[in-house]
Amino acid sequence: MAPTRLSTRSEYESFVDRYDTFLFDCDGVIWHGSTVVNNVPEVLDMLRSRGKRLVFVTNNSATSRKDYVKKFTSLGIQASVEEIFSSAYATAVYLHDVLKFDPSKKVYVIGGSGIRHELEEVGITTLGHDDLGQVSLATLKEIEPNAEVGAVICGIDYDISYRKLANAHVNLVENPDCLFIATNDDRTLPGGKHMYPGTGSLLNTLVYSTQRTPLVMGKPNTPMLECVLKKFSLEPARTCMVGDRLDTDILFGIKGGLSTLCVLTGVADEAAVCSPESPQANYYMASLGDLSVIQ
Ligand code: PLP
Ligand code: CA
Repeated sequence: MAPTRLSTRSEYESFVDRYDTFLFDCDGVIWHGSTVVNNVPEVLDMLRSRGKRLVFVTNNSATSRKDYVKKFTSLGIQASVEEIFSSAYATAVYLHDVLKFDPSKKVYVIGGSGIRHELEEVGITTLGHDDLGQVSLATLKEIEPNAEVGAVICGIDYDISYRKLANAHVNLVENPDCLFIATNDDRTLPGGKHMYPGTGSLLNTLVYSTQRTPLVMGKPNTPMLECVLKKFSLEPARTCMVGDRLDTDILFGIKGGLSTLCVLTGVADEAAVCSPESPQANYYMASLGDLSVIQ
């Protein structure tokens, strides 16, 4: 069925009444980078005052949940660590709880402090953060697989280097038992002025060089969904996923059997939402902030 546009106060009221839990994508719905979307803090307060459960589900692996709480606070939004579900956290939980990662092994990380922090929180040791120096053809032979490495994880890494890629590559190729996991595979990320290469673009260098297929955690993939469903025991019929991207957020909601709302403050525009070729959201509206007309 074609997505229904929500635009009147009574449509907003009946939409909100239909659900107990809202899963929110962050960038493009709650904020753009470091700027909050107009009226969204008021809307989240209104939902809380009506007893709704809120969960924030982001593919951005750059930040730990503790630092996300600080970001929410700085934007005037109350949120707890337990309500935040990032692809970095999902990766740590999945590795620890589902894959039962051997605690005597280590993880080679392409990524930043957000991923490292979440892995260390579940007791997993990480390697790779200082692999920054230049390499040359003559020094490449110093890069050897490490028998202690049980997994290579790729997330967003603003200090990506040939040395890191080469380390990840040799571990993956020389040790077929080494797990290959990506926090997410977004092709691009929104950088304010332009779109820039996302985690998926870094990841694909390794996919091409190793010819291995990673397990991808983030939206729209099911490992993150499994982690969210397990943690919150959601009732799908009473849960709505709110996002700005059809191929990640809306597809994620559809795969989970949830209702979906696409807002037009981010990646998707009205034409994309209404195209029969796109994953079909149940609802769409201009901005989540528009719900502030109901109290
Ligand atoms: N990955 C990175 C590194 C990002 O910076 C962003 C958005 O800022 C995303 C992914 C997408 O995040 P979200 O799932 O909250 O839209
Ligand atoms: Ca988004």
